[in-house]
Amino acid sequence: MSKSTSFKDTDTTEIFCPICGRPQSPSLPFINGICRDCFLKTRGVAHVPERVNITICNYCGAYKISKQWIEQKPRSLLEAISNALVDVITRRARPVEGVKDAWVEKVESLEPVETYGEYRFKVSIRGIAEGGVALEKDYVVLVRASTGICPSCIKRKVGYHEALIQIRGLGGVLNARERERLIRFLDKLPSRLQEQVVDVEERKEGIDLMITDHATARIIASKISHAFVGKKIETYSLVGRRSDGKRLGKLTISVRIPALASGELISIDGSPYLVTGIERGRLRLLDLSRNIYQMLDAEGFWSKNIERNPYVETGKLMLVSKGRETYVFLDAETSYSKAVEYPIKDVVNLTNQPLVEGKEYKVYKVGRRIYIII
Ligand SMILES: [Zn+2]
Ligand SMILES: [Zn+2]
Repeated sequence: MSKSTSFKDTDTTEIFCPICGRPQSPSLPFINGICRDCFLKTRGVAHVPERVNITICNYCGAYKISKQWIEQKPRSLLEAISNALVDVITRRARPVEGVKDAWVEKVESLEPVETYGEYRFKVSIRGIAEGGVALEKDYVVLVRASTGICPSCIKRKVGYHEALIQIRGLGGVLNARERERLIRFLDKLPSRLQEQVVDVEERKEGIDLMITDHATARIIASKISHAFVGKKIETYSLVGRRSDGKRLGKLTISVRIPALASGELISIDGSPYLVTGIERGRLRLLDLSRNIYQMLDAEGFWSKNIERNPYVETGKLMLVSKGRETYVFLDAETSYSKAVEYPIKDVVNLTNQPLVEGKEYKVYKVGRRIYIII
């Protein structure tokens, strides 16, 4: 509405920022109803991580992101870290709501970088808001730069790693889900351990880790076997002598992990068990023959004869009535023509919800009991 045709002499088009009270103007554009300055102050441009770990190959300057080494030829450690930081932030920073695109403009060290360690970096992020307003904000990111060695440098220094950890699954092969879990687990290891992992190789049967020294390899293998209820076997082979005459040995630790998930059936020494969880290095299992919960640690688990996918009779039953002493079901396999009755004590409900009349359930039938699964 223009002023000439308006009855009241007020400018209804003027908008004020609800936070700072200043009016919208060409020098103060608005985004999502607030002024640019208040938008930058309250939301920023992108979600930028506060801390970043960067591993730089001590021999060639390559850097590592998500277990992958990116080659580069930096002239200094500062340049190596800065390039890696730009890449990490580009991959991990996401524009905030209301910003359609954001990118790293530049990074700058706030402290002199001479060697590996922790340094604060200023990261300038630029972006474009959905309405087209240009934005810029500086973030401070704590960068922990540590030293590693990339695969190509390892190959140049054959024999550098003294230990190998081979991680395999229950039947000798590791499934995709456990590979994922392992990679996430390795990613969370303390960096003093990660730094000694010189290479990670995915193989058909599992994952191999090349470790610089025996002591670190033993610590990592123990952590893996504890978290995944694994079994360790160490073998040692003499590979030669160092130039100073010291004997050189290569340690191989094979770690087998059960790779089981809640809800899976296994056979232990011939009896069916249902896996109900993994807690602090122990497997929680329900012995279906006896309806008793059991905890097994790695030693207990691997001392037994374990098999996957045991035969357990399954069925589909519809609950028709809950009596005081018995439950009556109709069997789906007989087209609901046959009623079956179970004493309440022999009906084990594993669904975490009360049983409902008229609902159909998947059950395991073991001995005189039925286990209601879903
Ligand atoms: Zn404002
Ligand atoms: Zn290298």
